[in-house]
Amino acid sequence: MSDALYALFELVRIDESARAIDEKLRKIPQAVESERNAIRRLEALVNQQRKALEEAERLLKEQEQEVAARNEALGKAKSRSGRAQTLKEFEASEREIEYARKALREAENHRDALRERVQKMREALSKAEEELKKSQNELAKRESALSSEIDSLRKQYEHITNGRDKWLSMIPQEVLRIYERVSKARVPAMVEIKNGACSACQMEIPPPRFLQAQRREVVQCPNCHRFVYLREALERLEPFEDDGE
Ligand SMILES: [Zn+2]
Repeated sequence: MSDALYALFELVRIDESARAIDEKLRKIPQAVESERNAIRRLEALVNQQRKALEEAERLLKEQEQEVAARNEALGKAKSRSGRAQTLKEFEASEREIEYARKALREAENHRDALRERVQKMREALSKAEEELKKSQNELAKRESALSSEIDSLRKQYEHITNGRDKWLSMIPQEVLRIYERVSKARVPAMVEIKNGACSACQMEIPPPRFLQAQRREVVQCPNCHRFVYLREALERLEPFEDDGE
């Protein structure tokens, strides 16, 4: 006797497990997606900081040149003062020196402020780079852990679906066609009859179908169209061990 009901029961069990594994496999890439996005944002931030630092360094360089120019101007004013021949010339050159000193001081103050700013930006950047590196390393670790999880799930999947063809071959084509349809819409596609009713939708199984179920025939719930079975009928015999096919 080729027990289609038992084969269908096993097929549903296999497909349910395979579906659960599939679901897990689909969710794995999503698990690290938010971390990946966070790292992308961090990278963008670090790049911004890097560019801002480059700009600040360029300004500092310009200001250092400005200080050098002011220094040179002061030197020239001093040497002109040494060449003054009248009191008026002398006073004028003294004012020029005073002005040049003031300009130099201002330029130096500005340069010092820029230096301090550049220093702070360098420190902030190196801190941000460190954080980025840390997050990248953590993500790499997570990804490698997930990839071994994926491997193990794929192996489980193969192991579980291994005997599927054997059961398939024991189920009539028309039942398989119904199964294809039902399993797309209903999870699980086969449920137990409990207290005379479909345990998924609670619809009572009409007496003729109940009798069929008792005879281990393939029966569907009239309401949700799932396959239904009676546990005691299914467990009454171990069909394939004893049959010898
Ligand atoms: Zn039902």
